[in-house]
Amino acid sequence: MTYQYWDQKMETLPRSGLEAYQLAQLKKAVACALRTGFYRKRLHDAGIHGEEDIKTLADLRRIPFTTKHDLRSGFPFGFLSIPKENVVRLHASSGTTGTPTTIYFNKEDIRRWTSFVARSIYATGCNSADVFQNMITYGLFTGGLGFHYGGEEVGMLVIPSGAGNTARQFKLMQDFGTTVVHATPSFLLHVEAKMREEGVTRESLRLKKAFAGAEPYSEDTRRRIENLLNIDVYNSYGLSEMNGPGVAFECQCKNGLHLWEDGFIPEIVNPDTLEPLPEGETGELVLTCLCREAAPILRYRTRDLSGFYTESCPCGRTHRRLRRITGRTDDMLIINGVNLFPSQIEEVIMSIKEAGNNYLIAVEKDGVMDRLTVKTEVNRDIFMDDTRPLNALRERIRKTLQASITINPRVELHESGSLPVSEGKAKRVLDTRPKDV
Ligand code: AMP
Ligand code: ZN
Repeated sequence: MTYQYWDQKMETLPRSGLEAYQLAQLKKAVACALRTGFYRKRLHDAGIHGEEDIKTLADLRRIPFTTKHDLRSGFPFGFLSIPKENVVRLHASSGTTGTPTTIYFNKEDIRRWTSFVARSIYATGCNSADVFQNMITYGLFTGGLGFHYGGEEVGMLVIPSGAGNTARQFKLMQDFGTTVVHATPSFLLHVEAKMREEGVTRESLRLKKAFAGAEPYSEDTRRRIENLLNIDVYNSYGLSEMNGPGVAFECQCKNGLHLWEDGFIPEIVNPDTLEPLPEGETGELVLTCLCREAAPILRYRTRDLSGFYTESCPCGRTHRRLRRITGRTDDMLIINGVNLFPSQIEEVIMSIKEAGNNYLIAVEKDGVMDRLTVKTEVNRDIFMDDTRPLNALRERIRKTLQASITINPRVELHESGSLPVSEGKAKRVLDTRPKDV
């Protein structure tokens, strides 16, 4: 395979060059941070008074971590490092885990962010001949405008369809010959189910690729989408605190996400001790943004769990590859003392071919015990009135889940299309247990 680069020099820069670049950018980021109300105090307390106090990349560890709580405490302008009249845009996190946080951009920040998204899109083999339908929420969420600008920068024809309204999505795809889409993996599964329901054939579309991100999903989910739609699915990772999309992205090898290390310095730490973990181990991803002046963020604890592959990628890029994010430290459920990540359930559901494209996890109190119920849709070709095979399927799903998660769940089977669908990030877990127990 021949690989294409958006910025060959930077994407294939040897590590020593990359680290020298990172150090220069880190100094600039610290200088910017010292101009914000929040970091001035934090950095002074840590003995950092100017960029001259950052002499090597190891000095990064002298900088205290920044948490979501810190960002909220600085709301609305505590993290602003430039005069307000130079700010051209704001975005906010989707607030899946509480009050949203706000990030600001100046013109140059937008330009750099756009180039990281363009680089990511180009790495999947897309080019100006592609027609790109951005099936994600526009607005404060970064996935809309972030991909929109990146797509235009690549020169693709960008259709700003937004999320939802599958019938309109199909019409746009057919009318304009869409070749690539961007969506959450859960919306892609919903689109596929709707296609079957509405009789839209795969052959009537020119779709070749999808960028899927904004929420965790398993390798089985990727395979399911790829097989059902006969396309390539590329994992896209980003977060509003680090601009949005364009932080880490899969190349054509689809073997982990190249984290653009000229824009972000990653660290993997033990979430309990906050000590760095050896290369290759899984822990909490901490990111320092090197490419934004208006609202610098240093050593941000993402809460996302991942680690790096240690082998290099056949594509020739030198930026390290992140493993698929399995979940967040704060979405772990403890059920009767057993730790459980929703992604473990997803993996099982997606590996069972009779299970449909949507599922929900309910946790409730049953006396003193916790009770886990997994509600999953079944494929349309399964006849819901025929109880014997349905019971057998339910039992098979229950047993497979139990073997994998060591908890015995209740399993409910639901008709295809009957469980609620969210257009943005999927809300899969309904935990109704009182919070103080
Ligand atoms: P937001 O700031 O609202 O864009 O949310 C960012 C969060 O979405 C990240 O911190 C992750 O928890 C999650 N996320 C984004 N992309 C992915 C992905 N490809 N895989 C897993 N989680 C993701
Ligand atoms: Zn690669």
